[in-house]
Amino acid sequence: MKVFQNYPLLDHNTFKMKVSCRQFIELERPEEIVNLCEQNLLEQPFFILGGGSNVLFTKDFDGAIVHPVFQGIERMDEEAQSVTLRVAAGTEWETLIHYCLEHQYYGLENLTGIPGLVGSAPVQNIGAYGVEVKDCIIAVEGYHLSSGAPFRYDNADCRFGYRSSLFKTELKGQCFITHVCFRLSKEPHYTLTYKALKDELERQQLEPSLENIVQTVRAVRDSKLPDITQIGCAGSFFQNPIVPATLHESLKEQLPDLVAYPAGDMVKLAAGQLIDKAGWKGYREGDAGIYPKQALVVVNYGHARPEEIRQLYEKVISDVYNKFKVSLRPEVNII
Ligand SMILES: Cc1cc2nc3c(=O)[nH]c(=O)nc-3n(C[C@H](O)[C@H](O)[C@H](O)COP(=O)(O)OP(=O)(O)OC[C@H]3O[C@@H](n4cnc5c(N)ncnc54)[C@H](O)[C@@H]3O)c2cc1C
Repeated sequence: MKVFQNYPLLDHNTFKMKVSCRQFIELERPEEIVNLCEQNLLEQPFFILGGGSNVLFTKDFDGAIVHPVFQGIERMDEEAQSVTLRVAAGTEWETLIHYCLEHQYYGLENLTGIPGLVGSAPVQNIGAYGVEVKDCIIAVEGYHLSSGAPFRYDNADCRFGYRSSLFKTELKGQCFITHVCFRLSKEPHYTLTYKALKDELERQQLEPSLENIVQTVRAVRDSKLPDITQIGCAGSFFQNPIVPATLHESLKEQLPDLVAYPAGDMVKLAAGQLIDKAGWKGYREGDAGIYPKQALVVVNYGHARPEEIRQLYEKVISDVYNKFKVSLRPEVNII
């Protein structure tokens, strides 16, 4: 393990906040977390950081940041139609996508282009283009931070929900995920329920294949999302709100083209559309802004300070509430 003091986090958060932490601990082996627990090194405030693409640091972090750097993809089990992969937390998500492409394993292709590390993927049950990572996860392994005891949670134990899991709710901040186990199909099996993806494949007259889906998802993402090497952001800043059907009915009178999806007894709305309708799309104040091509994304055009980002997203939340009585909640982890 490597330990650094007073460490800058600029290159460890895609929002590009110029903050630092008191201690930065790189874990080179999964078991090293047990040493940290035994030595009570996690008594101080601490935070597990993957690629930093789903966090907003609002100030310097006065504690320890624990960052897994161990990587690897093991093939555990192989049957005629499926394969089980056990992937180490520090592996880049995109490395796993490349591996699946190379070996023709189906299931994760719609999730191509999502920044970050594999160990973070179950935390908010990453999702895109009609697929959620829970659809392919069979187990999540790691250590409980209070005791250093190992765990292995099967899919059902992880309580996956929309951008949520056990690791983001009941056990938030209490588990260190070391490996994620995926079961992937060896036979072609595509999810083309998402209109923008299906339309783009048709427009380009492309037959569904792993390569074509990966390439098309990337193109669609590039057309909507900022290039994080140029503009700081953490992807969708807000969750899509789930509201009672009565509120949806009354909103339809105000917004006849309101986008809505059934969510059990409730209705899921598109946060981006509400922010757009409230007039915030493309808004900019200094270097903090709402991305012109996708109102869900709060951006840092260069030198925005954490408080400027916070002021902006709080204004958006309050304005959307005043106009539509819908409470938006950040999807991003605010530290
Ligand atoms: C341009 C852009 C596009 C994006 N598109 C999408 C998208 O389409 N769909 C989507 O779902 N998300 C999207 N995201 C959000 C983000 O990329 C994902 O949530 C990703 O999984 C975060 O990975 P990370 O390694 O950067 O996690 P981090 O931001 O470092 O951490 C996220 C959370 O996971 C916890 N965590 C990280 N590693 C571990 C571990 N080993 N054990 C326990 N807890 C851990 C952290 O404490 C934190 O609470 C996007 C972000 C950006 C910047």
